[in-house]
Amino acid sequence: MLEQWKKVLNKMENEVTAVTYDLWISSLKPIKYANDELLLMAPSVTAKNQVCQPAIFDKLTRIVREEFDKYAYIRVTETKEYEENIRQQDEIEQKDSGRECPFNKKYTFENFVVGKSNQVVFAAMENVAEHPSQKFNPLFIYGGVGLGKTHLLHAVGNYLWKNRPELNVLYVTCENFTNDYVDYLRNSKDKLKSEFRDKYRTADVLMIDDIQFISNRTGIQEEFFHTFNDLYQNNKQIILASDRPPKEMSALEDRLRSRFSMGLIQDIQEPDYETKVAIIKKKCSQEGYFVDDDVVEFIAQKTGTNIRDIEGILSKVVFYAGLLGKTHATMDDAHEALKDYGEPEKTSLNADKIMSTVCDFFKISREDIVGKKKNKEVVEPRQLCIYLINDMLSMPLTAIGDMFGGRDHTTIMHARDKISKQLKTNPHTKTLVNDIKSRLLKY
Ligand code: ADP
Ligand code: MG
Repeated sequence: MLEQWKKVLNKMENEVTAVTYDLWISSLKPIKYANDELLLMAPSVTAKNQVCQPAIFDKLTRIVREEFDKYAYIRVTETKEYEENIRQQDEIEQKDSGRECPFNKKYTFENFVVGKSNQVVFAAMENVAEHPSQKFNPLFIYGGVGLGKTHLLHAVGNYLWKNRPELNVLYVTCENFTNDYVDYLRNSKDKLKSEFRDKYRTADVLMIDDIQFISNRTGIQEEFFHTFNDLYQNNKQIILASDRPPKEMSALEDRLRSRFSMGLIQDIQEPDYETKVAIIKKKCSQEGYFVDDDVVEFIAQKTGTNIRDIEGILSKVVFYAGLLGKTHATMDDAHEALKDYGEPEKTSLNADKIMSTVCDFFKISREDIVGKKKNKEVVEPRQLCIYLINDMLSMPLTAIGDMFGGRDHTTIMHARDKISKQLKTNPHTKTLVNDIKSRLLKY
């Protein structure tokens, strides 16, 4: 920029009188050139006003366009004004940082790769972000694990956070919602009850993730039904994400199923090869990874459709290259880093699969693992299974309780916490968990 500016000065010297040049032009300082705008700093208001007179300004613009870009334009500022601008900007940023953004900054619309598999969902979510409560209400999206549902919910959150700060946008997982409700039930104090309703019924946009986990026990669906109606009647936007369509949610009450169908129900499908390649490339540029093109293609071919797994494998390859002191990952690194992996597995992870893997591992029956027996041979596998289902799927305790013969959520919590504790102190438990996980995660 400085070189170009020197040329501008030289040319200007021939265009204006020596006095004008010495007094007003030579003291201009280029500060920044961005988006075709050249920002020039004048040492005083007088100097700025002089330069902004058409006779000088037009010449300056013409020469700047010759040297910078034919579409360039100039803006002249002076010290005080410039400082005031910076101060104002700082203030705005500070205000923003005062409200802490609850959404994952990486999960934006801009960072989401759109392909055939997800373009309709993407368009619907974007529409809802731009015009909440107008077209698709409720918006129900569903699709398998790792296909971008949570990402899109956060993208709506981030968009509204930035563009509609006046709106109360609430994102919770079904588990958060359930826990809040269970807390309130347990205490059953009026205050808590009103706090629960304050939190959920004052939302302008309510997003609930993993709604498939909504249990039919403890009146949670009843409460959700009322929350839903209340928000809907007040013309508030509701967005729900699930791993399956409402008709396949067996625990769902019919009246909720029919509520969900009042708006748009849209699925997100598994990405095709091209989309996977585009996602991997995007991830590389975001994270600053240098990865050869053939490595990108190799990863896209070798992996299944769960994008979270794809990201994990990509970072594994990059990590491996980094260990060797390389800044660039090549095919050799990819082969070496992934040599233990087999062919991609088609089915994705679910609670059923975790349970049958644990049963296989310990050679016990499904009846025993969900049953009432208390001998050590079944108690430990049962606890591990509960831990894994909660850990790997974030499935809420009440839903896990349902799977395990209607056990209470406190029993489930106890089992989970016991394994969490053992993981920290007992290497044997750690080995068990790792072994079972590696069976489950083989892709
Ligand atoms: P889900 O909630 O459907 O299980 P997530 O939203 O958690 O899936 O997505 C898993 C990971 O994959 C996230 O890191 C997300 O950013 C990434 N991801 C999924 N789909 C896309 C996409 N189309 N473009 C970019 N990243 C994606
Ligand atoms: Mg999710």
